[in-house]
Amino acid sequence: MNTSIKIIEEINRLKKEKDAIILAHNYQIGEVQDIADYVGDSLGLSIKASEVNNKVIVFCGVRFMAETAKILNPLKTVLLPDKSAGCPMADMITARDVIELKEKHPGAIVVCYVNSTAEVKANVDICCTSANAVQVVNSLPKDKEIIFIPDKHLGSYVESQTGRKMILWNGYCPTHAFIDAKSVIKMKKEHPEAEVLVHPECNSEVIKTADQVLSTGGMLEYARQSSAREFIIGTEIGIIYRLKKQNPGKIFYPANNNIICPNMKLINLEKIMWSLEDNVYEINLPGNIIKKARLSLERMKEFV
Ligand code: SF4
Repeated sequence: MNTSIKIIEEINRLKKEKDAIILAHNYQIGEVQDIADYVGDSLGLSIKASEVNNKVIVFCGVRFMAETAKILNPLKTVLLPDKSAGCPMADMITARDVIELKEKHPGAIVVCYVNSTAEVKANVDICCTSANAVQVVNSLPKDKEIIFIPDKHLGSYVESQTGRKMILWNGYCPTHAFIDAKSVIKMKKEHPEAEVLVHPECNSEVIKTADQVLSTGGMLEYARQSSAREFIIGTEIGIIYRLKKQNPGKIFYPANNNIICPNMKLINLEKIMWSLEDNVYEINLPGNIIKKARLSLERMKEFV
């Protein structure tokens, strides 16, 4: 029996023993997606995490996602198999920054992309994901200023779709920054039949080249029902694994081969097994942070 099969068997045994469920983001490596009980984007994972009845959630993603699972289901044990799996965008703003922004713009509503720390979420009015950011902003009173944190690219895309001018924080995703408009235009020439699907974390020049601007969950749904046979994909390349698996007759080209989030690639089968064996690395958050952050996440869940 080869090592991977042994590890998979051990993970399945430990899952039963510990009453655990494995949740994985669409950017995880293929073998992690394959062993997960549920694979999805941030919105889908948040909903799933809040509904889980198992005692233990093994979260294969980055820290802010595991924190979100803990906030939405605080009585569960939430494990992140690699403690260094962080998100540089989430670290671009602190709770202190949010407090200062609110002091500078009293009365403004703070909308926060879920790619943020629990402490930041505890200081905002409402969260959003890339799948529902436009709906969230459209729902806000027209006479109120809006602060949008931390992703300036998602914020500027939301501005273009809602017509609302917002105060944007200067955060961004370093992985999506690898996608440039020139390369996408060149690829379109090479594959004229392909539809271009890009994530709203891309810059506005890339977004202009797109046929569709979608969350990763949106891309999966769109590719499934589209009559197109070829697609150029402008997001982290982990999604291509799932796109290919779900659409065996279709072709998916990454917008370039460098769109790899190193943090999303830290988790593998061995680390999931060790995580279940040793109960590591448990996400623990102060009760007051959970209570406050939960409010902003629960408000977001109305926009599913
Ligand atoms: S892809 Fe970007 S936003 Fe997502 S976890 Fe990696 S660095 Fe953060």
